[in-house]
Amino acid sequence: MSKLGNIPVNAQDGKKRTNPLAGVFDELVQFCQSRSMFMLHYCTGCGAIELPPAMTSRFDMERLGIQPMVTPRQADILLVTGYVSVKTLKRVILTYEQMQSPKYVIGICSCTVNGGMYWQSYATAKVLNEYLPVDVYIAGCMPRPEAVIEGMRRLMRNIEDGKGNAWKDYFQRYDYYLGNQQHLFGNDWQTPTDIIGEARHYGLESEETYGEHTKILEQHQQPLEPYKMRIKL
Ligand code: SF4
Repeated sequence: MSKLGNIPVNAQDGKKRTNPLAGVFDELVQFCQSRSMFMLHYCTGCGAIELPPAMTSRFDMERLGIQPMVTPRQADILLVTGYVSVKTLKRVILTYEQMQSPKYVIGICSCTVNGGMYWQSYATAKVLNEYLPVDVYIAGCMPRPEAVIEGMRRLMRNIEDGKGNAWKDYFQRYDYYLGNQQHLFGNDWQTPTDIIGEARHYGLESEETYGEHTKILEQHQQPLEPYKMRIKL
């Protein structure tokens, strides 16, 4: 008899497995994932103001199994709550890459969709999904708590139906995302995370994982040194 731990539960191609027990586990895991979502809300802009009412007693988002988490390493969802300046986007990407897969991104506010009222600003990134794979956008300036909760429910339904797979796109088309990041931050942009190694680990390498931008990264990539703390006495 096979051990429970040996039964594969994640269908890579979206198809049901022939093993009926594994199919049951696929659905069970997807159901559990969709009902226990820990969110890291990165308060980039004014849209974050709608999160306290969405979470507290009036709308009570926690009843859906959604609760805030203080560290990216234990969070499933990254909420980007408004306009993202170029400086902030670097931190958003660093945060996203530290989250464990499967992971999901929700762009809240029109500013994440197309730049919103900052569409002409030289200092903001306009379209979030050029830099990170976004699962759900919640448009509005700013969206009300009902809209935020509806966006969360949409993501829950996607995960339950096995359609919450945007995180795979970051590995499968890494060269595209890296190219846009290099365009904004310069060719010497690098993060501490080995995305290509992770793509190999998950079996998500594709032709578009590699390209001219990953070649540029390879040329200058080096281990990042921690900053030394200097105390002036
Ligand atoms: S869409 Fe409106 S509320 Fe949201 S970040 Fe932009 S300006 Fe602020």
